[in-house]
Amino acid sequence: MVAIGIDLGTTYARVAVFQYGKVEIIPNEQGNRATPCFVAYTDSERLIGDAAKNQAAMNPKNTVFNIKRLIGRNCYDEKMFQDVKDWSAFDAAVVCARVKFDLDLKDEEKLLISPEEISSLVLIKMKEAAEAYLGTTVKDAVITVPAYFKDVQRQATKDAGAIAGLNVLRIINEPTAAALAYGLDENLKGERNVLIFDLGGGTFDVSIVTIKEDKLFEVRAAAGNTRLGGEDFDTRLVNHFAEEFEQKYEKDLRSSPQAMRRLRTAAEQSKLILSSSTEATIVLDALYEGVDFYTKISRARFEEMCDDLFHSTLDSVEKVLNDAKMDKSQIHDIILVGGSTRIPKVQSLLQTFFGGKSLNLFMSDEAVVNGAAIQAAILSGDKSSQIQGVSIVDVAPYLLEIETTGLVTTKLMERNTRIPYKRSIKFTTSSDNQPFVNIHVFEGEPASAKDINLLDNFLLYRLPLAPRGVPKIDVTFDVDVNGILNVTAQLISEKATKLRVRREDKIRLTLVEVVCLSDEAKEYAAEKEKERQRIAAHNQLKNYVLSIKQAADKAGNELDHSDKYLVLKKFKETIKWLDANTTTAEKEDYDYKLKELTKICSATLAKMQLSADGSGPQPSYCGKQSCNNVGGNYGGSAVKEVD
Ligand code: AMP
Repeated sequence: MVAIGIDLGTTYARVAVFQYGKVEIIPNEQGNRATPCFVAYTDSERLIGDAAKNQAAMNPKNTVFNIKRLIGRNCYDEKMFQDVKDWSAFDAAVVCARVKFDLDLKDEEKLLISPEEISSLVLIKMKEAAEAYLGTTVKDAVITVPAYFKDVQRQATKDAGAIAGLNVLRIINEPTAAALAYGLDENLKGERNVLIFDLGGGTFDVSIVTIKEDKLFEVRAAAGNTRLGGEDFDTRLVNHFAEEFEQKYEKDLRSSPQAMRRLRTAAEQSKLILSSSTEATIVLDALYEGVDFYTKISRARFEEMCDDLFHSTLDSVEKVLNDAKMDKSQIHDIILVGGSTRIPKVQSLLQTFFGGKSLNLFMSDEAVVNGAAIQAAILSGDKSSQIQGVSIVDVAPYLLEIETTGLVTTKLMERNTRIPYKRSIKFTTSSDNQPFVNIHVFEGEPASAKDINLLDNFLLYRLPLAPRGVPKIDVTFDVDVNGILNVTAQLISEKATKLRVRREDKIRLTLVEVVCLSDEAKEYAAEKEKERQRIAAHNQLKNYVLSIKQAADKAGNELDHSDKYLVLKKFKETIKWLDANTTTAEKEDYDYKLKELTKICSATLAKMQLSADGSGPQPSYCGKQSCNNVGGNYGGSAVKEVD
């Protein structure tokens, strides 16, 4: 059965197939080789692709685009809301860890749809185009993602494929796909280090791939920014024009989504013109409140307003060279991929960085889909000589850490580790009769704690009551070829494996049904917030009680016997109460317990020269911002690494 490759970009999607020894780009029903990633709802129909984009200015609130910038992000991501605000388009209503779009379909009717579903609609469009072109049903596909996509973003893209009815053979990194297309197309001689600089509509990736003579494509390192691309340059232009309009006519057009959409389209057009001319003109009749807007923009002014964004690409280039432990001079070829690499300033900065080395504008927009089609053919067993013997070794661009006892983090996987990657770690409990353990997995950059996000946490509960150190828990972390983490935790008892938690089961998105009641969504958001507060209150109480116990232990004989007895008694009582009520207690119950405990223990704490206000020492249990956000540390349930 034939398998297709899909480049699911921020602005455009492309589909291709490898057959008869070469890649064929499949046109859509309009005959275009790229389909805009736009989905729109009108009163009577749903539109996808060109038809959706063409009516965007008339129907801005119900036209969704740039989904790739939102997919897999969570509801605490403020930058995501800023993005949506910048586009002055649809509203993003947060209903859960995944964002859903809240579309004003009709006055009283709301349609909530998730990014996965929107992406799946675009994927269905690509699948249909391929089926019409090939005259057969298509099931299998390879879908590309930015190399810098995080685990959840990869998983969400895979889910979108599943919702579209596709069997996703592989999620492949965009620069890797481009390198594959380049390496096979160019018939390279000898081993070559290739730097792929991929700046598209919404994301930026840079990777170094060593292409060996035996057709081995080895990714050495990847870096990038999943929030940098043509859309950001457009936003700068839009803001500039909106200000100019306000200054000239004393009218703020930002409040009109229609005017903003028209301005955005014109801004993008002017950007394209500035890649080949030094000046661009904008003509927008009756843009806002009947006022016509005619203006000009020079290339120099455009470069000035995007200077910081353009320069930031070089930081990633430096980083990828460092990670690959390579010097600039060791790079043989520089490959430019993605529409935004046509911007002259982007090219000149890169060229200067590499001491004037010439750049290779390799099939700029179609390199990625070419590689995806080749990968699809390889995975579906195509025997063409051109792709025989090709193998790819990719890396995961983020490190993974897990949190263990006393919030000590253990590095699980270094950045730029080859994937697939598997590692097992054994844990045990840190207190007697511990009923559950909680394993936190973090993903991010090593440079600073704020760049590390809680990826997931796994609660392994109903452990058989046993002295601390007795239960043996084996946790296996497995980053698959798609760069997606699967975790399996199991309790090894003397007899057999009894407990098993698999991350896959836990987070798998059910095929999402379109929810028509926005009230339902709000209710859900309120419930989530309530649960977050409940967990925070639980953690506060537990941390407090642990801290007074620690303080009493530390004080040793200096503490009066009766005081020590009181603290230990309260400690035991509270821990017992916490264990018995973890799933049922409300925030108010925890708050009440904490208040009572503070009242009883404050005098003793004062004697131990601890916080005189009675709040007690608060052990900092998590330096990571995201911890609190997700209701992170479930009461310091402390598991400990063992040999
Ligand atoms: P891609 O994701 O590779 O399809 O790239 C799409 C992005 O490239 C969009 O933001 C386009 O506005 C931008 N783009 C395409 N052509 C040009 C050009 N000639 N100059 C500047 N940007 C361009």
